[in-house]
Amino acid sequence: MEIQVVGVVGAGIMGIGLSQSLAQTGHNVILLDISDKILEKAKQEIKNNLRFQQLFTKNKKVKQLDDILSNITFSTDYQFLQNVDFVIENATEKWHIKKDIYEKIDPICQPEIVFAANTSAIPITRIASVTKRASKVIGMHFMNPVPMKPTVETIRGYHTSNETIETAKKLLVQMKKECILVNDSPGFVSNRILMLTINEAIFILQEQIASVEEVDRIFKTCFGHIMGPLETADLIGLDTILFSIEVLYESFNESKYRPCSLLKKMVDAGLHGRKSGQGFYTYN
Ligand code: NAD
Repeated sequence: MEIQVVGVVGAGIMGIGLSQSLAQTGHNVILLDISDKILEKAKQEIKNNLRFQQLFTKNKKVKQLDDILSNITFSTDYQFLQNVDFVIENATEKWHIKKDIYEKIDPICQPEIVFAANTSAIPITRIASVTKRASKVIGMHFMNPVPMKPTVETIRGYHTSNETIETAKKLLVQMKKECILVNDSPGFVSNRILMLTINEAIFILQEQIASVEEVDRIFKTCFGHIMGPLETADLIGLDTILFSIEVLYESFNESKYRPCSLLKKMVDAGLHGRKSGQGFYTYN
């Protein structure tokens, strides 16, 4: 089956990057969220990202930008998913939100299409269990920012079929991205390690062992990382970090995943990182 029209659920950081990537590789995208205001913001952000990209590629053809944007339909109406060839869900990292979405879209979408969950930590097998197409549910953990990241951690749920894996790989080839296939477990490989590291970096800060800049500089200058753990937390979104570490804590029943209280306080205070303008660093 050809994958031409892709339904993208959730127009936050990941939905925006993903829709842009898909539109740039010639796919038609149905981008869904819960309000027109959020969708308008997403459209503006995609426009800005494309303009920024064009500055660097010295390709200033405005028509091309309009062509790419015209590949994306922005909507709050789930019925638009009736005829899509593939769905990638990127809604807020909360189980009750994702559960509602999958229960809603399962009867709307064609029964043969694949649902890919772009979650940070929620097990794919749990997501598949609320649908009637468990063999067609897979994890596709895209990295942020999607247009710049070449590899996708792809997760095989308990019932995911080989055919579904091949379909997901086919879409990734079309998007010019590589696949690393792993088995299902909360947080998979990347976030089981990364979320612990970020959480521990926040404990270091809370205990006044080092400043924000010092923590990040140690990772950059000593280990050669491009970004430190606190800069990475701001990029991902502190709310998403908290929700993900909570999933790990609940899933493994392991105290090592308990979220740092400073992280909880920052999320309560609305300091969600780059997307809110303030996290460990300040953004304009
Ligand atoms: P975000 O908070 O920026 O965006 C989430 C979006 O989901 C919001 O726009 C929200 O309105 C929308 N949403 C909530 N309920 C919805 C519903 N019922 N229907 C449609 N949309 C709904 O979050 P994000 O950073 O884009 O993360 C989205 C998903 O991707 C999460 O599961 C997250 O764990 C995962 N993820 C995030 C990153 C990252 O770096 N931020 C990386 C990989 C995966």
